[in-house]
This record gives sequence, C-alpha cells and structure tokens, in this order.
Amino acid sequence: MIDAKQIRGKVVVVTGGARGIGLATATALQTLGAQIAIGDIDEAAVKEVGTARGFELYGKLDVTDQNSFESFLDDVERTIGPIDVLINNAGIMPTGKLVDEPDQVTRRILDINVYGVILGSKLGLRRMLPRGRGHIINIASLAGETHIPGLATYNASKHAVLGFTDTLREEYRGTGLHFSSVLPTLTNTELGAGVTAPSLLRPAEPEEIADAIAELIVAPKSKVRVTALAGFIAQVVGLLPEKLGDGIGRALGSGRAFLDDVDADQRKAYEERARGV
Ligand code: NAD
Repeated sequence: MIDAKQIRGKVVVVTGGARGIGLATATALQTLGAQIAIGDIDEAAVKEVGTARGFELYGKLDVTDQNSFESFLDDVERTIGPIDVLINNAGIMPTGKLVDEPDQVTRRILDINVYGVILGSKLGLRRMLPRGRGHIINIASLAGETHIPGLATYNASKHAVLGFTDTLREEYRGTGLHFSSVLPTLTNTELGAGVTAPSLLRPAEPEEIADAIAELIVAPKSKVRVTALAGFIAQVVGLLPEKLGDGIGRALGSGRAFLDDVDADQRKAYEERARGV
C-alpha cells in the first residue's frame, strides 16, 4: 500500500511521458497528489495527453538535446517549483540482428537510451545537489542484466544505465540525493508491439511499473525489478555457469522472442517511430 502523504505535492518530471510506462507513471503519481511535468519528443501526443490528464506542465522535450532538456527543466522550476523527482524514462527498442542494424539506428539507441539518461541525470544533479535533496530514477530494463539475441545494442544501452546509476549512488553518497534504477520485464506498451513474452514470463502492465516507481519514491532503494518473478529468474540465471544460464534462456524462448518470433506487421509502426524513419 503506497503512502500518498509521502508523494503529495512533490514535483515530478517524467521524460518520454506521452505514452507507455512514462504516461502510466505520471498518471499514478498524479493520482497520489504529485505535481507532474511530462516532456516528450512527440509534441502532438504530449500535448494531447497533457491536456486530457490536466498535468501541471507538458511539452516538447528531446532528451538528446542539452538546450531542450535544460529549458524544459527551467520551465518546470519556474512554473511549478524545485524538482523533487526526475524520471529518465524516454527510450527506444529497435529489434533485429546487429549485422542488419543501420549505423544511424545504433547511434540513435545509444543517444536516447544512454546519453539522454546521462544528460538528464547531470542536469538534475546540478539542480538537486545545492538543495541537498532529490531523487533521480532511471528506467533501465531486465535487459540490463541479461543478454537477448535481437537486442544487442539495446542490451548494451540498458547495461550502461545500470552501471551509470550505481556509480552515481556511490559518487553522491551522503549528499541527501537518491538514485534508483527500474528494471521492467517486457511490458505491454507500443515498444513491445509484435513481441511475445518468453514462456513462463507474463508481460507486465505499465501500471505495475508505475506502482513500483511510486513505492521507490516513498522508500528509495537502488533497484526495483518488475515483475518480481522475471527479476528473480534473471538474477538466478545470471549466477549460473554460462552454458547452463544460456541454455535456460534458450529454453525459455528468449533466443527467438526478438528475432524469428516477432510479428513484423504488428511491429512495423513502432519500428518506424523508434528508428525515426
Ligand atoms: P513507449 O515507446 O511506449 O514510450 C516511450 C516514449 O519516449 C515515447 O512517447 C517516445 O516519443 C518518447 N521518446 C523517444 N525518444 C525521445 C527523446 N529523444 N526525447 C524525449 N522523449 C522521447 O515505450 P515504453 O515501453 O513506455 O518505454 C519507456 C522506458 O521503459 C524505455 O526506457 C524502455 O527502454 C523501458 N522499458 C520498456 C519495456 C517494455 O517492454 N515496454 C521493458 C523494459 C524497459
């Protein structure tokens, strides 16, 4: 049970908040009384949902552009107040074999999923450090603790987010700031369109990730894995000898889920959006 008192009034920024996990998180935190600002590269979508949900602030934000990010955070602090929680959520997941991945797609994944998170954390830190309070929550993935054929660059980006966020936790220990990583399993959003979850592992709903984030804000910790079962399996498999762990991954179907088993027609619209074509 989430204690709304601990969330009421907090100023929360969510990047990539126009849909999916970001929107579910913004909505859940708004219900708990937080003051919400969402930014997204998709200006039409962010304005539509921002108006419909009545968030305090919404608008265009490109997490790969320092001026865009800085001026968005300036707007938030001018119109709402000092940022308590920054959720670096924007991310993309093009699928396919690395050998077929155009270089601009490789760079785009790293730019949004890694540089965008690093930039957001840096800009957030510069505002939060002098105040001695604030919470930076970076959305990684269970792909950051595993290796999944068809997602090589995405896997690399999420491994990077985990290492980066853990490092900040140590680098700013004792400052009053908190740093957390969120590791969702495959979640029912457009990002996962046309992908079937490996056997045994049901996909999560975005609202489950949102609830986990709300709990993190109330009781900060370094990592939260959602679902608990998928997180447990990923951790156990990671501890096994390599051949056994890889074999279990294949038996669960993770070798095919993002390659042969993808429904290309269902996935087409997402792939085009993610790749920027
Ligand atoms: P989504 O595609 O539904 O939403 C992502 C949002 O980010 C979109 O609205 C998009 O316009 C926005 N965005 C993309 N590039 C941007 C940029 N440069 N600047 C600002 N906004 C930008 O995806 P989602 O499933 O909600 O994913 C959210 C996060 O969760 C991502 O970091 C993703 O890697 C992570 N995640 C998702 C899943 C999943 O299965 N859905 C699983 C694990 C982790």
